[in-house]
Amino acid sequence: MSQEPPTPLTWADSSTGQTTPDSLLEVSQQPDVVVSLESVSKTYATGAAEVHALREVTLRIDRGEYVAVIGPSGSGKSTLMNILGCLDVATSGRYELNGVDVEDLSEADLAAVRNTHIGFVFQQFNLLPTLSAWRNVELPLLYAGVGRSERRERAQQALGRVGLAERVDHRPSELSGGQQQRVAIARALVTDPALILADEPTGNLDSRSSEDVMALLDELHTSGRTIVLITHDLEVAAAAERSVTVRDGELVDPDRQAAA
Ligand code: ADP
Ligand code: MG
Repeated sequence: MSQEPPTPLTWADSSTGQTTPDSLLEVSQQPDVVVSLESVSKTYATGAAEVHALREVTLRIDRGEYVAVIGPSGSGKSTLMNILGCLDVATSGRYELNGVDVEDLSEADLAAVRNTHIGFVFQQFNLLPTLSAWRNVELPLLYAGVGRSERRERAQQALGRVGLAERVDHRPSELSGGQQQRVAIARALVTDPALILADEPTGNLDSRSSEDVMALLDELHTSGRTIVLITHDLEVAAAAERSVTVRDGELVDPDRQAAA
């Protein structure tokens, strides 16, 4: 059973070892809208009760935008992040990532999209403790079937970009929290993804390291990256050029927000 991809794009196929073509990574060929959510709802069925974690969320994010998603605990931020990151699928509504309707994709396609089109930065860094910095950073390229010497070169480049050129052989335990998060950011950008998704990236950092990480996100934005930053911290959110608020699973209307 081999289903054709729904678009001109093709994804890495782990069974054949085929890799994502370079053309996929060329920004010039990419659509201007990176994220398009239309009336997206997510309902969790827990026993008899239903939890409406997201209700009819409509959101568009253009290429190069830096958007903060804010909201109190339990408002639906992580649910939104999971859907944006293709880690979970909506109960209803439509999600197009980089012009591709995510609903049409198989599990394998979704895994490939996650790997090559999205760079994840988590609160807990999520680095593999036994691997050196560059080995951590090369992982998405390994999964995408990129050859060894190119992997090493690109991983080192990405680490240089986050100011860790001198730390490529260090393991996570030999790095500070701020440095570990910079490794995670290098890993997030090594595939040149359409979207960088950061969920509370400064949540485990001291204020000095937080500033470093936020400065880095700023720099990535300036160089044309599309960034979604999820946070409950208004001060952190202020770094983005636009913010949207989630409350009880609903996006609060930005105009009403501005008027309030
Ligand atoms: P936030 O990240 O803003 O704290 P979440 O997206 O984690 O919020 O959760 C939104 C709502 O959905 C909460 O009421 C939460 O309890 C519920 N929820 C989240 N994940 C699940 C799940 N897997 N099963 C059932 N309910 C869930
Ligand atoms: Mg959360």
